[in-house]
Amino acid sequence: MISVIIPSYNEEENIFEAAQAVSAVLADREYELIFVDDGSTDGTWQKITEASADPHIRGLRFSRNFGKEPAIRAGLEAASGDAAVVMDCDLQHPPKVIPEMIEKWENGAKVVEGKKSARGSKGSSYSVFAAAFNSVMTRATGFDMSGASDFILLDREAVKAVLSYGESGSFFRALAQYVGFESEAVYYDVAERERGSGKWTFFKLLSYALKNIASFTSAPLLLGLASGAVVIVAAVVLFILKWCGADLGPFGAGVLALMLVGGLILISLGIIGYYLSRIYDEVKRRPKYIISADTKERK
Ligand code: UDP
Ligand code: MG
Repeated sequence: MISVIIPSYNEEENIFEAAQAVSAVLADREYELIFVDDGSTDGTWQKITEASADPHIRGLRFSRNFGKEPAIRAGLEAASGDAAVVMDCDLQHPPKVIPEMIEKWENGAKVVEGKKSARGSKGSSYSVFAAAFNSVMTRATGFDMSGASDFILLDREAVKAVLSYGESGSFFRALAQYVGFESEAVYYDVAERERGSGKWTFFKLLSYALKNIASFTSAPLLLGLASGAVVIVAAVVLFILKWCGADLGPFGAGVLALMLVGGLILISLGIIGYYLSRIYDEVKRRPKYIISADTKERK
C-alpha cells in the first residue's frame, strides 16, 4: 500500500482538487490519503471531513497551527503504507510524478526525492533567499539541497529511520537524505499555485531557515572565534597606522577599536543565544503536535 501525506493549512479551496488528483493517479493501486490539517482557521477541516467519505481518505486535525514539519511527522506516524509520499496541498508538487516515484521505489530505491527543475515564479527576492538557504543547507548537511523540496517518497524502512530522529526542530527534506539508504531523484516543474495564497510570511520563512540551519550545523558558533581574529587584525592595523604617525584624533583609534570589538562580541553573543534557545526548546521535550480530531475514529 502507498500512503500519501498532505500537510494542509488554510487550504479549503484545494482539498477536493488534491484528493481528486491523487486518487486519479493511484486508482489502480492500494492507497491511503492522509490530510493533516495544521490548525487551519478556514473551512479546511470541513472539506477534509467531507472528502473522508471516501474510505481511502483520512483526516487528522491539529489543535492549533504547529507548522508544516510537525504536520509531516504526524502524517508519517499515522501512515501504514509500505511507502509514504509527502506532498503539498496546492498541487505545486504534481501528482502525475507519483507513479514515476513509485516505479523507482519498486526498482529498489528507498528514498525518491522530487527535485524542482524550475521554480514557479515567486518574485526575485524569494528565489534569492531560497538559493542562499539551499546553498547554506548543502554545506551544512553535506548533501546537494539545491532544488530540494518536501515532495519525497520514503520506503517504510526510511520512514522508520526519519521518525527515529526525535528532535522537535527537525527538517524533513534534509533528514530524508541524512538517514542514508539508496536514493533516487525525479524532476518536476513547479506549477503555479492555482488557488489560495502562499502560507509563509517573511518572518515565518526567516525563522524556518534559521531553525533548519541551526539544526544541522553549529559552524556559526565559530563566528565568535573568527570575529576575535578580525578584531586582533584591526587592532594591529590601527597600531601600525598610529606608529607610522597617522593622526587618528585624540580618541579616534580608541573609539573605532571599541566599536569594532563591541559589535563583534554582540554578534557572537547573539549566535550563542540563538543556539541556546534551540537547546532549550529541545530539552523541554514538549509534544511536537497535538491531534484534536481524527476522521478514522468516526468510521
Ligand atoms: N503548510 C502547513 N503549515 C504551515 C504552513 C504551510 O501545513 O504552517 C502547508 C501548506 O498547506 C501547503 C504546504 O505546507 O500544503 C506548502 O505551503 P505553501 O504552498 O504556502 O508554501 P510554498 O509552496 O511556498 O513552499
Ligand atoms: Mg505552495
